[in-house]
Amino acid sequence: MKLRQVALAVACIAILAAGCGSSSPSSSTTSTAVTTADGQHTFEIDHFAEGAIAGDVATADCTLSGGSASTCATFTIAGTPATYSAGPFCPDTITTPADQAGIWFDGKGTYDLTGSFIRNLSTFYNDSKWHMYDDLGKVNVTNTKEAFLGAARPDVDPAYQNYCVEGRAEWVNNGSPITKTVVIPAKPILTSGSSLANGLDWGITLDGIVIAKSAPVSAILGAHTIASFDDCGGHFNNVEGYHMHGVTGCGTLDDDHITGETAMFGYAMDGFPIHLPLTGEDLSAANLDECGGHSTPGLGYHYHANDPSKNSVLTCLKGELAMTTDAQGGGPGNGQGAPNGGTPDLTATAAKLGITVHELEDALGQSPNGDFTTAAKILGISAADLEAAMPQRPAGANGSPPVN
Ligand SMILES: [Zn+2]
Ligand SMILES: [Zn+2]
Ligand SMILES: [Zn+2]
Repeated sequence: MKLRQVALAVACIAILAAGCGSSSPSSSTTSTAVTTADGQHTFEIDHFAEGAIAGDVATADCTLSGGSASTCATFTIAGTPATYSAGPFCPDTITTPADQAGIWFDGKGTYDLTGSFIRNLSTFYNDSKWHMYDDLGKVNVTNTKEAFLGAARPDVDPAYQNYCVEGRAEWVNNGSPITKTVVIPAKPILTSGSSLANGLDWGITLDGIVIAKSAPVSAILGAHTIASFDDCGGHFNNVEGYHMHGVTGCGTLDDDHITGETAMFGYAMDGFPIHLPLTGEDLSAANLDECGGHSTPGLGYHYHANDPSKNSVLTCLKGELAMTTDAQGGGPGNGQGAPNGGTPDLTATAAKLGITVHELEDALGQSPNGDFTTAAKILGISAADLEAAMPQRPAGANGSPPVN
């Protein structure tokens, strides 16, 4: 992991020297507005890496989920990381070193996915059913498209239990990146509460990929599989293509640095910037709110991502969301969305199930978009009961395959 990050850093420096699109130096005269009159750092196309956005950005007046009038930017992310190549993921053998494999995080820790980590799984998870390698020390890896499709989902095909799961770009969408059109408030508005943005991803990176909700770790481990991530915290599934679950420092914007602050790497769906995690004294001094955000002079409100070990890049969103009827409400993998693409009202569902809205949101927040199996397991009810109690899903979203 360390070697790869050094290599990435070197690559980034080389790109920057050549005028990388991901960074507009603060001295640049072509830079667009950086902050609004109230000092809020807002949406800037210049911050995206070259190639991260497919086509143009359309900006139009919009009404946000809380009723506020704003301006929204609609654009399509390329769906493949613009500043690095995905992988490596699983180790080939039980002696493969860290720099030839990716990482794994399970909500409790982040681990180099070395051969010895694989060899040690039964001890690590205290479960003798783990055995992910053959007599010659070769790790069971999903080396075919069929194996990947059978394993990269919470209801893992039993044939692929005890497999390290990895996908390849050529197995998804006939080898083309899965692009995604998103609508983001270009003038974000804070609310007094917070939401889990059910049905939406947490956000998008400046690299052009989706920041997905938590990977369904309990389902993955329950099937004795490891849904490997590369060192940038991303992996493939068949629905969203390459997407990220953990932030490790890839694809950052290297300007906008302010003392005590970390580099920005994406925008949340409410339009507020997301920066790398804070650590140590900076973290204690930052006084972050329940969503990991705070307001600072020069940046305004912004989030700091969780450590990748948390398996959730953000915890909640503090801003109003863009209301759309199509682009981000009903696509594949977005099955939990309200018909209008905003946050569904879960009050009735929680009442039906005899639990609090907060408990329901927590369970849904730990599940990938559209996956009721995992959420139901967390709540101790059947997936059918949960699905029946949920608000009506948008047309076209029913039957979306579960995804990792
Ligand atoms: Zn900026
Ligand atoms: Zn900050
Ligand atoms: Zn995933």
